[in-house]
Amino acid sequence: MNEHTLSMRLERVAAHVPAGARLADIGSDHAYLPVALMRRGAIVAAVAGEVALTPFCSARRTVRENGFEQRIRVRQANGLAAIGPGDGITAISICGMGGETIRDILHSGGACLSGQERLILQPNGGQQPLRQWLMENGYRILSEEVLRENRFDYEIIVAERTGPVTYTPQELYFGPLLMQARSPAFLLKWQRVLNQKHKTLTQFARAGQAVPEEKVQIVARQVQWITALLA
Ligand code: SAM
Repeated sequence: MNEHTLSMRLERVAAHVPAGARLADIGSDHAYLPVALMRRGAIVAAVAGEVALTPFCSARRTVRENGFEQRIRVRQANGLAAIGPGDGITAISICGMGGETIRDILHSGGACLSGQERLILQPNGGQQPLRQWLMENGYRILSEEVLRENRFDYEIIVAERTGPVTYTPQELYFGPLLMQARSPAFLLKWQRVLNQKHKTLTQFARAGQAVPEEKVQIVARQVQWITALLA
């Protein structure tokens, strides 16, 4: 993967960035996403934010090598502190991190959000707490997808702030739109998760009293939900 050829995962994220956006890519690493989009003329400006020094330097190098220093600002900052009102950001991508980390970035950076930005999120696990945060903060999920690449199942969640929205516990767990669409990739993912959960329950049973009952109940309820979903 590089700024010329994105992974399928980032290619699908790119597809949700509105044409002509001013994009903030938080946790940008090499800045492949904003640079690829700028090379295609799909965005007009971007901020590549990185908290860690080595990826920040990689991002700066990719931007410099492509001659985009005037159009893509690379900033070393924690989460949404990379952006300011002067950037006029219209879309924010946060990809390749745990859902809880993405939630924490959105939560602690709330003051940097105008509420007008489209969020394009690609959590590696932790989708449920991330969707919970979106719901509690008035973000409606506009699009969701599951894709499989290199033996990993990835989810992409696109949301915009629209006002109060309510999702059921199952919708927060599976994704409200994914549950409706029931794509082959989605069903295969949950079949794999169900197999893992059955193994976990068997291990819990072997461990006996050592596993807190509450923990067993949570997994048992998830098994129930997934079984019902796949029925
Ligand atoms: N977004 C790219 C992608 O999806 O291919 C890179 C993903 S990489 C696995 C995660 C990056 O997020 C790392 O470079 C890490 O330094 C950065 N990161 C983690 N927490 C961050 C934060 N709070 N603020 C900014 N960057 C962060």
